[in-house]
Amino acid sequence: MKFVVAIDGPAAAGKGTIAKAIANHFKLSHLDTGLLYRGVGRKALAYSRTSYYPEVAKQLALDLKSSDLESSELRTPEIAEAASKVALIPEVREVLLDFQRSFANQDGGAILDGRDIGTVICPNADVKLFVTASAEVRAQRRYQELISSGHEIGLENVLKDVVSRDKRDAERTSSPLIIAHDAIKIDTSSLSIKDAVWVAINCINEKYKAAFLLK
Ligand code: C5P
Repeated sequence: MKFVVAIDGPAAAGKGTIAKAIANHFKLSHLDTGLLYRGVGRKALAYSRTSYYPEVAKQLALDLKSSDLESSELRTPEIAEAASKVALIPEVREVLLDFQRSFANQDGGAILDGRDIGTVICPNADVKLFVTASAEVRAQRRYQELISSGHEIGLENVLKDVVSRDKRDAERTSSPLIIAHDAIKIDTSSLSIKDAVWVAINCINEKYKAAFLLK
């Protein structure tokens, strides 16, 4: 029996927080797929000017190890930008696809959050959520996060980064950020974390119960 939840949405919409809370509630494993791209992005920044050539970036993705995903440094704006640049490269996406699909296929199922989970990685997910919020609210949240982890950055710059990353993610040709036709949209702009998690749990509950009753 597998139950798969796909969560997509733009940067800092609250996907990660919601995904972790849902994973805990339904006792499912969770994968933050953005970390994979951030891991490759960090390697790209450290490598050379050729890092964004498809063959070079592909090798960086092939070299990715689980220990590369553990650093708290992966959350910086520079790495977020590098992640969204390597994410444009189809060869990189192809390398990361198998790992994400196998994670989703584990016994019991899983929750994955990212940009293309409901459209490309898990098109047959039991539940698809598209979590979003206004760019201003998302920038404010990311700004608070960065400031409280010791980064020195202005709100204006965070807003600029969020908007340009969204544009790159939505306009790329390979697996762009789009809402799946069968996804449920949750706008967290005016929701507290607790309320957003409650809405998400309610979106999943009925299908979860049905899946287990039909087992
Ligand atoms: O979710 P997070 O902000 O950590 O993702 C960093 C970047 O990785 C995104 O801006 C996007 O370009 C890329 N990404 C992606 N597909 C995913 C997850 C992340 O292209 N499934």
